Amino acid sequence: MPVLVMKFGGTSVATLDRIKRAAKRVGVEVAKGYDVIVIVSAMSGKTNELVGWVNETSKFYDAREYDAVVSSGENVTAGLMALTLQEMDVPARSWQGWQVPLKTNSAHSQARIEEIPTDNISAKFAEGMKVAVVAGFQGISPEGRITTLGRGGSDTTAVAFAAAFGAERCDIYTDVDGVYTTDPRIVARARKLKAVTYEEMLELASVGAKVLQTRSVGLAMKEGVRVQVLSSFVDDDATPADEYPGTMIVSEEEMNELVEKGEMERQHVTGIAHDKNEAKIILTRVPDKPGAVAHIFDPLAKAAINVDMIIQNVGRDKGETDVTFTVPMADLARAQALLEDKRGDIGFNRIITDSHIAKISVVGVGMKSHAGVAATMFRSLADRGINIQAITTSEIKVSVMIDEDETELAVRVLHTAYGLDAPDNPAD
Ligand code: ADP
Ligand code: ASP
Ligand code: MG
Repeated sequence: MPVLVMKFGGTSVATLDRIKRAAKRVGVEVAKGYDVIVIVSAMSGKTNELVGWVNETSKFYDAREYDAVVSSGENVTAGLMALTLQEMDVPARSWQGWQVPLKTNSAHSQARIEEIPTDNISAKFAEGMKVAVVAGFQGISPEGRITTLGRGGSDTTAVAFAAAFGAERCDIYTDVDGVYTTDPRIVARARKLKAVTYEEMLELASVGAKVLQTRSVGLAMKEGVRVQVLSSFVDDDATPADEYPGTMIVSEEEMNELVEKGEMERQHVTGIAHDKNEAKIILTRVPDKPGAVAHIFDPLAKAAINVDMIIQNVGRDKGETDVTFTVPMADLARAQALLEDKRGDIGFNRIITDSHIAKISVVGVGMKSHAGVAATMFRSLADRGINIQAITTSEIKVSVMIDEDETELAVRVLHTAYGLDAPDNPAD
């Protein structure tokens, strides 16, 4: 039997009624002859609540216990989805990560998938089970402890199962009907993309387009998994999933074919993303000498804290310099404590933090061959009085750091500046 992976995000399983609707969609695919692997998230808001409880209980928590707590939301929805399917007479059972077992490394709260043995689930399919409902986001470490895959990690669970089982497709059901030129909740004129390349989706996800977890896209690209993003909120008699009503993530070659057929337009900029989840740290009066910067970033790297933008400011006094950089908001307290701890080695004067910042990024493979994308960005933001605090670029991306209050304005202005606004939608 061909295998299909269907992943339902938090809003798609937010209530018992939503679980029923999702289960109905699963039933449609079972009726077509698929063995279906359903990956579920926790009910929307649940993981945030669990994370909140952990933070309230323990400031510098044991990550193994964090994982034990925050993985629990998915256990509930997996069981409920299996029960709902059984009520529809669809043979189904639930699997927690450890039961599969979905094996990960020991990097608690950010674990990487190492292996998904297929024998347990395949044996059940062979016995007539039609749907394996798997709790997303969780696995088991070599030490036998529960791990989680980082926020949004159910997407990665889904892609990893699709790769392990050689699934025909991995359908990611969410609360929007595809990948848009920017977050459609911010820009009403955002346009849905029929397709987006793996490379662009990877970059968009990594700079904040949370519709897919970054790792899920990297894995799909590496394993050649066909991923489609589509809505679980459209009417039940809407276009069937195999007619591709959502956004398909495609290779560069497939994209070229779509462009040749006139089904996609080539733009210099494909999408715009924003990220409010970073915080800025400024270390003042760091000695301007070899090794100073290594003293700052070595301890952060050892603690698995990802540093993103880095600026070394011109020193105010001779022999000293200010170093500014960003870290994920969730790691700010830990980073600050680590740096304070190393104050003697680094030799800075003050540590200033600011979480009131946002990163705005424009992404597009068209940038590789087209100059002027960055200049358009800087000019458009300047015309609206938006101050740029830092800049980073890659081959297909330009990012700027700005004041968080200006996020929505910046995204809208850039969306218009790059000609991405949909003509028909109501003005935002
Ligand atoms: P789920 O719970 O289904 O995993 P998420 O909230 O993680 O859903 O991701 C879906 C959300 O991603 C959408 O509601 C939308 O606000 C946001 N989003 C951000 N950027 C984009 C984009 N470019 N296209 C579509 N959605 C986007
Ligand atoms: N429930 C987890 C989260 O909110 C995983 C997921 O939904 O993908 O991050
Ligand atoms: Mg998600």
